[in-house]
Amino acid sequence: MELGEKIQAVKAVFDILDTEIALFQENTKLGCKSGCGECCKKPTIEATILEFLPLAFYLHKENLVEVFLDKIKNKNVLDNTNNEVINDGICVLFAPFLPNGKTGYCTIYEHRGLICRLFGFSATTDKNGQKLLATCRIIKENYTEDYEKAVESIKNGAFIPLIRDFYYKMYAIDLNLGEGRLPINEAIKRALELVDTYFYYANQE
Ligand code: SF4
Ligand code: SF4
Repeated sequence: MELGEKIQAVKAVFDILDTEIALFQENTKLGCKSGCGECCKKPTIEATILEFLPLAFYLHKENLVEVFLDKIKNKNVLDNTNNEVINDGICVLFAPFLPNGKTGYCTIYEHRGLICRLFGFSATTDKNGQKLLATCRIIKENYTEDYEKAVESIKNGAFIPLIRDFYYKMYAIDLNLGEGRLPINEAIKRALELVDTYFYYANQE
């Protein structure tokens, strides 16, 4: 599969997942707290290169690859107290404040990765194959009743997208790019470098 076809294949997986999550949300009435971006603030998010190929392709088309590579590079700062390079680790697409200064958001939401789409409204399985809702503290605390109903209905067989299934779909597109998880900014950086180099040479032919 050519890189362009892989990008389209990843987008097709995202479309399926988005449809399934919308169905789950409609059935359970569970949703994110308005304006919340708490899960994006974690410095430990890991992602694959493959899931950020659509983002990289979008930034390549918009001529923004260098801008974002610089943003990622500039997240590294020198800590003068011990001369170590430190990085806050927070996703480069995350804007900490809305114009009203209250909360944060994803600046290129349409091209967010698989992990970003899955979190909150998908399931893992336990050793007996029972589906377990993988969601956040904010949903549990703010929508406790709907959360508990959702957990109960999943136990009784209600539909929910399975995280595992979507990783398998990604492996089928490209095992190398879809398997190893990296800190999110490193995954974005490698996706940008791969896409930019590939289309640079493709356009020379
Ligand atoms: S999944 Fe949870 S933490 Fe993330 S935006 Fe939604 S409500 Fe907030
Ligand atoms: S890509 Fe967007 S949704 Fe995903 S972690 Fe970064 S800011 Fe959050």
